[in-house]
Amino acid sequence: SIPLSFFAGIGGASKEGILIKGSNYMETLSQAKYVVFDKTGTLTQGVFEVSGVHHNEMENAKLLEYAALAESASSHPISKSLQKAYGGQIDLSRVGDVEEIAGYGIKAQVDGRTIAIGNSKLMKELGIEYYDCHSVGTIVHIAVDGEYAGHIVISDIVKPHSKAAVAELKRAGVEKTVMLTGDAKRVAEQVAGSLGIDEVYSELLPADKVAKVEELLSAKQEKAKLAFVGDGINDAPVLTRADIGIAMGAMGSDAAIEAADVVLMDDDPMQIPKAVKISRKCIRIVY
Ligand code: ADP
Ligand code: MG
Repeated sequence: SIPLSFFAGIGGASKEGILIKGSNYMETLSQAKYVVFDKTGTLTQGVFEVSGVHHNEMENAKLLEYAALAESASSHPISKSLQKAYGGQIDLSRVGDVEEIAGYGIKAQVDGRTIAIGNSKLMKELGIEYYDCHSVGTIVHIAVDGEYAGHIVISDIVKPHSKAAVAELKRAGVEKTVMLTGDAKRVAEQVAGSLGIDEVYSELLPADKVAKVEELLSAKQEKAKLAFVGDGINDAPVLTRADIGIAMGAMGSDAAIEAADVVLMDDDPMQIPKAVKISRKCIRIVY
């Protein structure tokens, strides 16, 4: 019977680490023609290497320490890479109020000083003059008590299977691949270009990502479905808005797992074409 085949399909998918939350999502996934990706943590590893620390007057070690402390409460991939580069134990008693601003960065009290850490948008927002930096990589600017203190460059490493996953989706009949990111244009275009992604939009805030998805939804035909794939950090609103929301890496944020229709246990991007192919096979058996 129809429900039994769906159950078998959902069960089979779950054995592959692909959790599909219902038979309606199985059907929508099988019709995916647009696949929209988040960059950081989805197509890139999300655990970057710190490739440079450039201070103003403070020592490099001190700058990195402030960065790691200010970011200690965040689960953002940038935070994880800063913790790793710092390497030391974090004394949480040194950290006071923390405010994480999605798409911008963090404001935190450390040793009673106000640390602002994030992108150029955050510096502009706070009226802090920063140095424009031409290094290749994601630039994290740091200000202490309203004074620019320097920046840290982290190289955003593409996952080994991202390119193959994009190619495999194309082979499976996906018409358009798109990358949305809050990161800078230069990094975004370099990553998208190297992966063979059709369209790229950068420097987006979470709300801009929703608006972009809505724009793509209204431009396409009803039958062609749009899937959004994200690692979850800041992505719950887009996961909800897409025809089908796919959250990668079940260790990601609870909000994303809640908002998603499909959860991939693994963070290997090859799981995305695999999920699409499993859903198509299941639908062929059902109908
Ligand atoms: P993406 O869209 O690539 O997944 P996000 O929306 O999570 O990226 O973040 C967009 C940008 O905002 C980052 O590239 C970074 O510049 C800044 N940012 C966000 N969160 C943090 C943070 N915790 N620390 C520093 N910068 C951050
Ligand atoms: Mg992200």
